[in-house]
This record gives sequence, structure tokens and C-alpha cells, in this order.
Amino acid sequence: MGEFELIRHYFAAAPCAQAGEGVALGIGDDCALLSVAAGEQLAISTDTLVAGVHFPAISDPFLLGQRSLAVAASDLAAMGATPVGFTLALTLPTVEADWLQAYASGLNRMAQHCRLSLIGGDTTRGPLSLTVTVFGRVPSGQALTRSGAKVGDLLCVGGDLGNAAGALPLVLGERAAEPELAEPLLAHYWSPSPQLSLGIALRGKASAALDISDGLLADCGHISRASQVALQVELDKVPLSSALRGFLGVAGAQQAALAGGDDYVLAFTLPPAQLPGLLAAGWPITVVGQVLEGQGVTLVDAQGQDITPATRGYQHFRESP
Ligand code: ADP
Ligand code: MG
Repeated sequence: MGEFELIRHYFAAAPCAQAGEGVALGIGDDCALLSVAAGEQLAISTDTLVAGVHFPAISDPFLLGQRSLAVAASDLAAMGATPVGFTLALTLPTVEADWLQAYASGLNRMAQHCRLSLIGGDTTRGPLSLTVTVFGRVPSGQALTRSGAKVGDLLCVGGDLGNAAGALPLVLGERAAEPELAEPLLAHYWSPSPQLSLGIALRGKASAALDISDGLLADCGHISRASQVALQVELDKVPLSSALRGFLGVAGAQQAALAGGDDYVLAFTLPPAQLPGLLAAGWPITVVGQVLEGQGVTLVDAQGQDITPATRGYQHFRESP
């Protein structure tokens, strides 16, 4: 199968490639065309997943299709953007029909779930790698950046943390667990649900936001630096799923939540007056700490004792100490 036939068959013909709202021209020309309404800004983010680095080289292609789009869509959620479309740059070692069919199905499923149209891409031969670029729209000036946290704000998260990090030994086949523990953890890893609606609900309310990809403490460091404030996390308030506690014990689950990657749950700072309305509307928000004067991220126990660990998350190019 040639490059053009492959693109047509697996991607251009997928239901998610049929142009949606805001897409003036989709796959097939030299560029896609997006319509940007007056008073809106375009939010753009790219994520690459490399075989052997971000996922095991032998992975279920359907799940990989879901996950490769979900991790990128999560950045739109973190910005408070409404999803519009995405491009896919696919590098494949060989053309395997079954693999491509399953990958495209998983991708399509997540695209429809997130209301993202596939608008273009690139297809090349080489070691397996998946790059997704997402496009969203947001009313001008209302995007949720990392730089607006204010002293006195609450530090909040949008759901249980650590599930994906807890799933990693299961994904890598290093450990096994009972189905009632393994299934929810694996589902969270392979099919993270980008918190797009929550991001939109936080527009004009949250003072800063991001999606947690490198562990709560490391990602709070980004808000702290960008906003020039200190963030304090209270360990006992960090929400943990019962599956994660059952699999790793409380201390292991806390470690996964604080320093493990891949959660794709939103973390944000919120003026206290905004909290009751959001909770009353049913948003799954947990307050895990507060914004203080100063800089950096500290972890405290229930008595307020500083128990900040030395290592804080995963970085690709960190130099050894
Ligand atoms: P060009 O050489 O002009 O960059 P290509 O031959 O790479 O064009 O791609 C032809 C069309 O197919 C373009 O519209 C491109 O965006 C789209 N395309 C290529 N690969 C993919 C893919 N994996 N998924 C979706 N669209 C793709
Ligand atoms: Mg090209």
C-alpha cells in the first residue's frame, strides 16, 4: 500500500476526518484551513509519543490510538480551550494493515469523544513515533495560563491522582494484580479522559491551570515559577482511588500521585470565592493546598510539618547529580 492510499484509507476516510465546526478545509490540500472567529484566539499544542520511551514497543494499537490523542487534547483542557481539530504525524517502521486499522479506530474513538476533527498530518517511515498537534479556540484573554496564581488562592485538582503511574508496572508486565484493581488503573493509563468540560467551566474563574503530566509536585513547580508564588500541598488531601490504594498501599499510592507521570488531571488555583459555585455545579474538584507568598512547592503533613521529598518527577534530559 502506497503512502497516499494509506492516508486515504485509514485516516482521510475516518469519521473524525469529516470537517467539523471551525474547519473550513480538512485533509487533502497543502494546508488545512481553520476559521477563527473575531474575539477568539487559537490554542495550539503538540505532543510526541515515541515507542520504547512513552509506551512499550509492543502495545495494543487501539489503546495507543486513544492515548496518543488524549494526552494532546488534555493540553486544550488545561488551557480552557474548546476543541476544534488535530493533525497526526505518524512515523511507522512497516505498513501493517491490522495495526493501522486498530490504531485509526482508537484515534477515531477519542477524537469523537473530544469533538476533535482530524484535519491533516504527515506519514513517514522510521522507528514508531506518533505526534499529535491539537487546535482549540478560546475567547480572547480567557485562556487558563500558568502565570496568574495569587497569594490566598486555593490549589485544586480535578480528580484522583496517581492512577496512570500506578498502572505502569502493569503496562510493562512487571507486576500483576486482581482484575478489580488492574482494570480501572489500566483504563486510566490507556484511555485518560481529557478534562475538557472542566477546563471550559474554569474560564474566568481559575487564576492558573495546567494538566498534570509529570506528577503533582513537579507540575505545581511550573505554576509556582510562572506565577512567582509558593504552592503548599497537603499530603492527606491528595485524592487517591481505591484501586490505587489497594494495589500500592497508601504510601505507595501517595508517592505515585505526587511524583508519578501521565495523570492528565487538571491542577489549578482558584480564588476561594469561586469554589462553592463550582462544587454546587457538580465539578469533581478537590482542594489539595494553597498559594502562599514566596517560591517553590512544599509538601506538608496533617500537622503542617514540611515533608517535601527531594525528587519531584520525570524529566527527559535531566543531568545526573
Ligand atoms: P505534503 O507533501 O504536501 O505535505 P502529504 O503528501 O504529506 O502532503 O499529505 C497529503 C495530505 O494528507 C495532506 O493534507 C496531509 O495533511 C494529509 N495527511 C498526511 N498524513 C496524514 C495522516 N497520518 N493523517 C491525516 N492526514 C494526513
Ligand atoms: Mg507532508
